Amino acid sequence: MFPLIVLKSKKEISVQRFHPWIFSGAIDLIDDTITDGDFVKVVDSRQNFLAYGTFQERGSISVRLVSFNESEAPNADFIINKLLIAFALRQQMGLITDNNTICRLVHAEGDGLPGLIIDFYNYHFVIQAHSTFAYRNLETISAAIQKHFGSKVKSIYSKSEETMHSSKAENSFLLGDANSCIAVENGIQYNIDWVTGQKTGFFIDQRENRTLLRSMSEGKRVLNTFSYSGGFSLSASFGGASEVVSLDSSQKALDLAAQNYELNKIKGGHKCIKADALDYVRSEEANGYDIVILDPPAFAKHQKARHNAIQAYKRLNVNALKGIKHNGYLMTFSCSQVIDKYLFQNTITAAAIEAGRNVKILSQMHQPACHPVSIFHNEGEYLKGLLLHVS
Ligand code: SAH
Repeated sequence: MFPLIVLKSKKEISVQRFHPWIFSGAIDLIDDTITDGDFVKVVDSRQNFLAYGTFQERGSISVRLVSFNESEAPNADFIINKLLIAFALRQQMGLITDNNTICRLVHAEGDGLPGLIIDFYNYHFVIQAHSTFAYRNLETISAAIQKHFGSKVKSIYSKSEETMHSSKAENSFLLGDANSCIAVENGIQYNIDWVTGQKTGFFIDQRENRTLLRSMSEGKRVLNTFSYSGGFSLSASFGGASEVVSLDSSQKALDLAAQNYELNKIKGGHKCIKADALDYVRSEEANGYDIVILDPPAFAKHQKARHNAIQAYKRLNVNALKGIKHNGYLMTFSCSQVIDKYLFQNTITAAAIEAGRNVKILSQMHQPACHPVSIFHNEGEYLKGLLLHVS
């Protein structure tokens, strides 16, 4: 009934450890009836059942596994069930409240739905498909959202053109036509535009880390580099920072940050600088801040870029560490999936040695509960950060 994928001998080991990805090099035979995005049955070289998965024609990951149980054959109900479990988890964890109307509802492999992202902005839903499986099932997903959230649903938008890398995938509304809304994170308001904004409109993954910054900002001078729409900046201002600088290379991002300050009626104490953060942290102007935030985009998107990315993270952090005031703080992040938390920490250690500063780790930061990670899939833990005391 399902197209068959036969693995090469010994390539079943990672599947037996429940790792959800099968790379093209591990496959011996593919059923010729297969089409892109199909559910498939994966067997070992002796035809023993291993798992069910979803097939992806392009890219190095050919099969993303969804079930390791032979009696749990996946179908549309299987998808709906996984969605309902993901929605219930966020509700159970109290992640959506009047004070928090921004949340990731589905985090791909972390929720057992490979390549599917759903972000929630005050009952507007933005779906991003990173796999043909997710893209092919947009209608089922949209119907499940409408059934579960009922008349509260204001719009559903699929923003998959960039992520599908295919001319056939177009961004489109599956319900309604709103392109932006005002939503709140820990009581701070943001104008979120999913149509023209970066990613799905907001970097939801930094929620807890912004809250941590807020709790330590009283009276501080804060430099927020790679600021995008000002999430860290506003959190510092709400926490009582005396001065906050948002720095980004994109004027559009800085305009969004300025608009969000207006929206929250915060006047004064905030400045925008358009610059390349890698250059700026080396300049005299960057010296003397109490708190510096470094939240760059992923420097390494694949394994081959890893070495250069590590050098770039190191340089950025050396320069930032050198300039920070005595007894100041650095909040530094990496969202590169191919750089794990150990490698990141080693890179920052090397940066501290080179900067000649005494550095203590106060907190190891990561993505929030609405971005769950399968324990069998280390790659899912993509966001890592360190809060450092610098003397
Ligand atoms: N910290 C942000 C998210 C950062 S996303 C938040 O909490 O919402 C990364 C940002 O870095 C984007 O806004 C992008 O425009 C900006 N950026 C990318 N390269 C840059 C560079 N070299 N210098 C400064 N900003 C850069």
